[in-house]
Amino acid sequence: MSATTLTKAAWCLATFLLVTLASTLVMGGCAGGGGGAGTGVGSGAGSGSGVGGVRRDGATLWAVAIHGGAGTLDRGAPAEQIKAYRAALEGALAEATARLERGEAAVDVAQAVVMRLEDDAKFNAGVGAAFTADGGHELDASIMEGHTLRCGAVAGVTTVRSPIGLARLVMDRTRHVLLAGAGAERFADEMGVARVPNAHFDTPRRREMWEQWKREQAGATSAAIMSTPDVRFGTVGCVVLDVRGHLASATSTGGLTGKRWGRVGDSPVIGAGTYADARVAVSCTGTGEEFIRHGVARALASRVELAGESVDEAARHLVFKVLKPDDGGLIAVDAGGSISTPYNSEGMYRAGASSRGVRFVSIWQE
Ligand code: ASP
Repeated sequence: MSATTLTKAAWCLATFLLVTLASTLVMGGCAGGGGGAGTGVGSGAGSGSGVGGVRRDGATLWAVAIHGGAGTLDRGAPAEQIKAYRAALEGALAEATARLERGEAAVDVAQAVVMRLEDDAKFNAGVGAAFTADGGHELDASIMEGHTLRCGAVAGVTTVRSPIGLARLVMDRTRHVLLAGAGAERFADEMGVARVPNAHFDTPRRREMWEQWKREQAGATSAAIMSTPDVRFGTVGCVVLDVRGHLASATSTGGLTGKRWGRVGDSPVIGAGTYADARVAVSCTGTGEEFIRHGVARALASRVELAGESVDEAARHLVFKVLKPDDGGLIAVDAGGSISTPYNSEGMYRAGASSRGVRFVSIWQE
């Protein structure tokens, strides 16, 4: 290497270190701002979004939204229960925020948040998954990185402790997108992934819902079983914009209580329950069949890309004009840091934050 090349390399390194130091200081100064949107929609349109996740004022932009499903507690539920859900969402939001402020990649943050919620028995994903008609659990999950369009998903797994972790391995370690059932579990073995007995996912509350479902279904036809409005849903998801301007989405679920015949919902279907590209990241929750039918997550991205709608316009169109009342909802974030969380059910566990000071944790319309 010549002396000139060495000098150039030294200059490059010095410049890089200075820029990194400056952006870290600026980020530390603006992070954790108060404010809170409360409505679940943080628009902030036009307030300085720039290229590559760095705002025009030099500060680093990040945003995150989380959902814990569109099947929520009734408003009249005991205060302790409501408090516990809010605390779980607060905890997940705090973890996401800390990771983003440390500069972690969107796809890693989305996965970490979903894994945390999979381990939380209150949510219908991982531990606490809904019971199938036969009294077991079949879990679905998917993850997608926007700027590369890399994605991975698993459907109908029964012994994998973290379905989202396995979906990530499908994305990182295979040339496939979706692995299902026994094949997905063989892949888990090959990857040395943690396995648990199916009963690991049992919780008394979900068992009670299953018992109630069985009582209600006694004598009903199979068509009635799938359309009964009382079948409560739930799912967890996370959408992220990281400081590099990269987007990612992750979704994990136990599906619908009383599902049968290997039924798979929208959560592991890229383009239906999960999608991310360079413009938006989306994670859905609700009656999976409807989200598959309308390809909701991809439709949202298309509306932003082709119709030039804002993420909130596109999200609201799909939730209020395309889906039917009580079908569910979605969370979405765009490359400018705007968050949208519309739903057409009674409520949706949701939380969001951004480096612009947006911060909310909500269950119903508050
Ligand atoms: N969408 C999920 C499914 O249909 C359930 C949910 O989000 O609550 O499997």
